[in-house]
Amino acid sequence: MSHYEVAHWINGAVSRGQAKGQQDIYNPATGAVQGKLLLGSAADLDAAVASATKAAKAWAQTPALARSRVLFKFLSLVQERREVLADALVREHGKTLPDALGEVARGIENIEFATAMPQLLKGEYTEQVARGLDAWSVRQPLGVVAGITPFNFPAMVPMWMYPLAIGCGNAFILKPSERDPSASLLMAQWLKEAGLPDGVFSVIQGDKDIVDAILAHPGIAAVSFVGSTPVAEHIYKVGSAHGKRVQALGGAKNHMVVMPDADLEQAVDALMGAAYGSAGERCMAISVAVAVGDAADALVAALAPKVAALKIGEGHGAGMEMGPLITRASQQRVERLIGEGVAAGAKAVVDGRGYRVPGHEDGFFVGGTLLDGVSADMSCYTEEIFGPVLCVVRVPDLAAALALIEANEYANGVAIFTRDGHVAREFVHHIQVGMVGVNVPLPVPMAFNSFGGWKRSLFGDHHAYGPEAVRFYTKHKAVMQRWPDSLPKGPQFAFPQNN
Ligand code: NAD
Repeated sequence: MSHYEVAHWINGAVSRGQAKGQQDIYNPATGAVQGKLLLGSAADLDAAVASATKAAKAWAQTPALARSRVLFKFLSLVQERREVLADALVREHGKTLPDALGEVARGIENIEFATAMPQLLKGEYTEQVARGLDAWSVRQPLGVVAGITPFNFPAMVPMWMYPLAIGCGNAFILKPSERDPSASLLMAQWLKEAGLPDGVFSVIQGDKDIVDAILAHPGIAAVSFVGSTPVAEHIYKVGSAHGKRVQALGGAKNHMVVMPDADLEQAVDALMGAAYGSAGERCMAISVAVAVGDAADALVAALAPKVAALKIGEGHGAGMEMGPLITRASQQRVERLIGEGVAAGAKAVVDGRGYRVPGHEDGFFVGGTLLDGVSADMSCYTEEIFGPVLCVVRVPDLAAALALIEANEYANGVAIFTRDGHVAREFVHHIQVGMVGVNVPLPVPMAFNSFGGWKRSLFGDHHAYGPEAVRFYTKHKAVMQRWPDSLPKGPQFAFPQNN
């Protein structure tokens, strides 16, 4: 594909804005620059907010059913064109085509959920809370809301946000990741084709500077963020200080506990997909296998040949299981963390440093890596690696596994593999983690449940998508009504005691 430019989407059209700065877009599989991204300025954001503010007023008055019909049309366009979107993900993110199609499929489920908005927005009604007095509640849109999204799911994570925000009657401004921005404009174009009025969905490209402008902008009522923990914390603090409603989902270090009674083959298959799928660049990736008791030796022995045999290459390649990392810096960072682990005493059973894919020697690849004998003080354990590295921590019993997980600052996802129902039940009940799998390595909730971690994996009250998103993107209004014939006579200075 020839060199291309990715710009903003403002007032229903591609906009180059002030075009004050730009940044290269890489193909991670080749290491080559393939396009350029225009970086938005404060004036570009002002233009997006102005058009969104105007559009939000009319959109909020549009009946929920009419809004849903636009989402239904959009849903069918995304379904028809899922390969186009997936192809953009492979070229800019580097993930394999089947994985990219899976990302689009999980995104689509959120559009499907959002089409139910007339049902989801129904309030509650209580007749006769006192004589002649009725009470009800409604949920109304916030106005203009923004979403700031990470590189690892350039289609799905925005879809966690905008179908819900728009369905609720808001205008939505997306600030996608600067690393793989093309999906944002495809989605914008298709929303317009589906009949979405101009200004209801906008895209402003950029990096940290535009994020800070979003956080300070008085015309934006709420911010949804998904990304790394330090940035999530920054977004939450600064956004809240500017009076915005903020939900900020952060990073993770997800453990999978393998009990001695677990089915070894199932546990190994689960770890392979969960640790190395998408090159480990998933917030729900399992990055730590906690081998309990005598599970460890057999587990490591079964994993090692499979990790060494991973099919790694350009994402369109037939049968590929894993692509490159997102940037050269990310490749170097992952290799550094592997090195630090080895220097601190971990054993690199499979070492993916220096991995080269024939024909793609300059791609940002790291081979699958298996580190055994990892302890909780090593940087490969304390830091989120976000690469194809599985750390094996050996513990004597379940209590030690629980203590390890409890002490971790992250609490996004966790899994246990066991045949013992009681052990699983106690694990689910006691573990302080937001999403829990029993013999399920990646317990990502479906679109009709909500997604979110605990501790430093989420800042704010609301989880993403599902019913929690409907609450996040709306204000609750409580109404009480009575009519003149039932009004009590005379002023009432005290709370009424007999209704
Ligand atoms: P990131 O935090 O670097 O970037 C996320 C977004 O924030 C991007 O749009 C980026 O432009 C912007 N940004 C980056 N640095 C910033 C700064 N200093 N100030 C303001 N904005 C800034 O994250 P990433 O590398 O794109 O994505 C990977 C991270 O996202 C991992 O930590 C992963 O665990 C996390 N993630 C979490 C979830 C979840 O649901 N909890 C889902 C996906 C990814």
